[in-house]
Amino acid sequence: MKSGKLIVLTGPSGVGKGTLLRALLRRHPELYLSVSVTTRSPRKGEINGKHYYFIDRQQFEKLAANGDLLEWAEFAGNYYGTLRRQVETHINQGKWVVLEIELEGARQIKQTYPEALRIFILPPSMEELENRIRARGQDSEEAIALRLERARAEIAAAYEFDILIVNDDLEKALERIEAALFASAKC
Ligand code: 5GP
Repeated sequence: MKSGKLIVLTGPSGVGKGTLLRALLRRHPELYLSVSVTTRSPRKGEINGKHYYFIDRQQFEKLAANGDLLEWAEFAGNYYGTLRRQVETHINQGKWVVLEIELEGARQIKQTYPEALRIFILPPSMEELENRIRARGQDSEEAIALRLERARAEIAAAYEFDILIVNDDLEKALERIEAALFASAKC
């Protein structure tokens, strides 16, 4: 059976993971981005099945209890999880599957998929991170405070990852990610 590869992208909310990922997927359409389930409400412009599968807590708890989630975590008051079958199916087809997940989930993946390549994206500074979260204009003050608190905790654990990349400049950060992926000894 062909076997693909699992790539985990983690970094604090607002660090620009989404923008980096979109650019990465445009340049490498062969990569498969896993679509997570979440109990968070959709933001403006988010599409069910594309950005996330938006489900309620009861549905989420059922998936978790049935072992259908490869990893899951609570983040800023909502649950997020990766659908096990989606990942396993694509990996078994030889695909490179990308997970864009937070720290707790990335830690779980280290246990279940130690061969996964785990990349952590850092902001240039905490001030810049706060500016980016506020500029997005999509979160309440309470949500912003929660996200900043979580960001500090995540950054403190960045050393646990295989590769650290500072997102100071989109193009440069992208090139660093490409170098990590395509020059990786874990291929
Ligand atoms: P957001 O609400 O901004 O879309 O996502 C909040 C955080 O949840 C981000 O750090 C994102 O990477 C993370 N996240 C998204 N999907 C998953 C998932 O399936 N599992 C885990 N553990 N984290 C996720």
